[in-house]
Amino acid sequence: MSPNSAPNRRSFLARSAAIAAVPAVATLAGGALAEPASADTLPDYAPIPPSALGPAVNEQGYFVGRVEKNLYWVTDGAYQAAFLTTRDGVVLFDAPPSIGHNLQRAIDQIAAENGVSNKVTHLVYSHHHADHIGGSSLFGTDVVRIGQVQAKQLLASENDPARPVPDVTFETKHTLNVGGERVNLAWHGTNHTPDNSYIHFPDHDTLMLVDIFLPRWVPFDSFNLNEDVPGSIAAPDTAMAYPWKHFIGGHMGRLGTRADMVLYQQYVNDIIDGVKKALGTVDPTPFFAKYGNNVWAAAQQYLAAVVAYASGPVIKKYLGVLAAADVYTASTTFAILESIRLDLGFGSQVHP
Ligand SMILES: [Zn+2]
Repeated sequence: MSPNSAPNRRSFLARSAAIAAVPAVATLAGGALAEPASADTLPDYAPIPPSALGPAVNEQGYFVGRVEKNLYWVTDGAYQAAFLTTRDGVVLFDAPPSIGHNLQRAIDQIAAENGVSNKVTHLVYSHHHADHIGGSSLFGTDVVRIGQVQAKQLLASENDPARPVPDVTFETKHTLNVGGERVNLAWHGTNHTPDNSYIHFPDHDTLMLVDIFLPRWVPFDSFNLNEDVPGSIAAPDTAMAYPWKHFIGGHMGRLGTRADMVLYQQYVNDIIDGVKKALGTVDPTPFFAKYGNNVWAAAQQYLAAVVAYASGPVIKKYLGVLAAADVYTASTTFAILESIRLDLGFGSQVHP
């Protein structure tokens, strides 16, 4: 997911600067560009349901809480990480740069309260994306980094000093044993990214799987920008096959339950049903009649009509149930529509 989904102060200020530069450009272009944004003219959306919100962050901008026993989670309201305290040090799971130095502050706080070590000895990567592990280099060189083998390949080619490549890799399975604790890492195929991993804590009733299901929120823009849409639609079934009570999704301010995941699966299934119905109902003929040889205009308007037909009832059903249903359901419907057409071949017809 994009770092832009973290409404932190710096990106807000950077964006304000970019917006301030617009009028000069608009003048040069003969005023063709949009007016600068103003809070008065921006669209309104439905309020966020209280069920989607988590605990308040502290003065430094983070919340740290216990998931189960010695497993903890940290959030800034938009991103999440987790850590396990052990007798030999701390195992950290992801290092979102938006939480940044607050990760160590949260660990220090819990370590002091429990009289255990605050030294991060291991850092597990859920996947290679910078918005989830771009704080990795803060933990120096004296830490063992663990990730799926494709995370290592991707990070090696991306060559970002903020995200050192993992020292330990696995292809399909790896059991991490640290200080008497065990964590099972697994790769079950590509989904959000080719390297996205399932992190299971068998002794803590918890599963961590990032950028698939964001408890009580609809996915981020265009179905979480998932690289493999069918793989991402299937991932919750794989997740549900694990025993767990607590779910860490990598985003927003709260943890998830199994009931939350069932609700999310229903939402995705409703979109799929809506898309299939729309493809069989919305007639493309008028769009092609209107636009003639401008095939892209016809395609754009036809697919927009399919998206509107499919997503309208879903938005209505989930408003007040899943946060931001009115913000991102349409773009997720478009991503799923394209996958249903192109990956599944639904609606494809061979010329007679
Ligand atoms: Zn991601």
